[in-house]
Amino acid sequence: MACIFCDNPSELTLEHAIPQWLYHQFSPGTEGKFPVTALHFIEGKGYVTVRPHDSMSFVTKKLCRRCNNEWGSELEKDVIPILTPLTGKTFPQLVHLHFSTLLPHSEVLCRWLVKTAITTSWTLPNVWRPKRDFSKSVRADQLPHEIWMEVAKSNQRGIFAAITQLFPTWNGGAYSGFRMNVEVPTFQFCLQVNHLLLRVASTPGARAIYSGSHGRRPYRVYPKPHPIDPDIVEYEDGFDFLKSVALETFAECEGEVPPEGWVPRRIIT
Ligand SMILES: [Zn+2]
Repeated sequence: MACIFCDNPSELTLEHAIPQWLYHQFSPGTEGKFPVTALHFIEGKGYVTVRPHDSMSFVTKKLCRRCNNEWGSELEKDVIPILTPLTGKTFPQLVHLHFSTLLPHSEVLCRWLVKTAITTSWTLPNVWRPKRDFSKSVRADQLPHEIWMEVAKSNQRGIFAAITQLFPTWNGGAYSGFRMNVEVPTFQFCLQVNHLLLRVASTPGARAIYSGSHGRRPYRVYPKPHPIDPDIVEYEDGFDFLKSVALETFAECEGEVPPEGWVPRRIIT
């Protein structure tokens, strides 16, 4: 097995899927150690718990020493001062003002979140793993095509990470279940640290629409921010945020049948 970012077959090192400084933000009293539960989407059953483990064992050995210590660590250093004010135990007031401070850093944040999505995908069982060219573009300081990123606030404090290729999908105005694009892979990765919610996704050929408990739409960071709307950036928790996005497709897509009982409640187009 070679490094997932540069194909170097030697000197593979242990890398925390979710950066350790974020664990410390969540649980400073235990030096970033706490129980972790992973969820896995199974057709007909919805999301089920995979295997509980410990935050410190949420690691992957798929990065070489150079990638870990050079550009990987530079990327972390760039992002720490940007996200630290938003990942504390209490979320700052003036949410939109704080979100707007992220916009000048949109590219580095998006690249960092894609890197975190890739390392997380190699830590969780049974999830999609991005292709090599995807990882390589991140290493080469580029963003893969058709990537978008958004942020929101969670009402409940927590820590949560999820990666999925399946989206609730509307085709030609009709709901057609959880689907994915198999030609050009769709995916979304959601990360919650305390009250901050982050999502990075790639949805070629489709338009993101928002459903879910309150019909709220998150704050777009990359590539082009949505106009600011002061009431639509709060979600109950990371899971609520994960479920809130649906796709409106313009082409046929392969997929799976909708799980029983899934009813979109409100759609913002
Ligand atoms: Zn490498």
